[in-house]
Amino acid sequence: MLSVRFWGVRGSIPAPGSSTVIFGGNTSCLEIRADERLVIVDLGTGVRLLGNYLMANDFKKGPIDADIFVTHTHWDHLIGFPLFSPLFISSTMLRIWGPISTTGETLESILKMQLDHNFWPIRLSELSAQIKYEQMQETTLDLGDGLFVKTKYLNHSTLCLGYRFEYKGKSIVTVYDHEPFMNLFPTDVNASDYDEVTAEEGERVAKEENEKIAAFFKNVDVLIHDCQYTEAEYHNGRHGWGHSFYERVIPSVRDASVKKLVIFHHDPDRSDEDLIRLEKEWQVKDDCPSTGGLLSKLNRLNRTAVIIAKEGMTITA
Ligand SMILES: [Zn+2]
Ligand SMILES: [Zn+2]
Repeated sequence: MLSVRFWGVRGSIPAPGSSTVIFGGNTSCLEIRADERLVIVDLGTGVRLLGNYLMANDFKKGPIDADIFVTHTHWDHLIGFPLFSPLFISSTMLRIWGPISTTGETLESILKMQLDHNFWPIRLSELSAQIKYEQMQETTLDLGDGLFVKTKYLNHSTLCLGYRFEYKGKSIVTVYDHEPFMNLFPTDVNASDYDEVTAEEGERVAKEENEKIAAFFKNVDVLIHDCQYTEAEYHNGRHGWGHSFYERVIPSVRDASVKKLVIFHHDPDRSDEDLIRLEKEWQVKDDCPSTGGLLSKLNRLNRTAVIIAKEGMTITA
């Protein structure tokens, strides 16, 4: 069985408070289970709660052994790391995977920076767990026990990997943090710097890159996709910030035979009320019992369930 549990669904910065109690305020952290294998995606503040859960449950059966895949090193995806309690147990075995860095630093040195004494009282060298660090580009890895992961670069302001986990014919894909590829050149024929050839080339390249992302999540059981903004917000000064918007994402999965689309990386200013309203706006209907159930009219035709990610939710692929 392949499943995912959500320990943090928020983007950019934690957003605790009375307006986020339903969907949660912790930043990104996913617990993926492939039968007995444990995979963690991202070390946002949600990983603190996952660590406590593992110590209270899994640790009774034996040492914690996990593959941790970091999508990228922006702080909302790393900030929970020092509070992951299995780090302080010597029998814990962790393999931390992440993308190479544009500045040449290793993943270990970036995590070490976060634990610099100016920011945190405990150093990386003081952690008891046995940790191996691995950096990747686009690749496919055999993790053993029938579990495979494929990686794909996304469109973000630093190197950021999407992950496609495959296990016994089931699949889960992460596509966050990610902004759709757009034409970078002027397309307004009246603009002074408009050039027809350049505009067409820009259009072609953006289309091709978006098709590669769609191919990455084609036929997947569960797609966890960045959806920080609405279209109105995106076009109000957030272009180029590295995130997607509802009006673009939901239609884009229509032709990709995605079974369940999970809207993820909620904006810190997005309240429970907003998320509930967005559910309704997407014409949701109670058709997905595991989550309280959301299937938009748009996607009913294509059999894609649209689910708003919520802390504590578990989805089976
Ligand atoms: Zn983020
Ligand atoms: Zn980011």
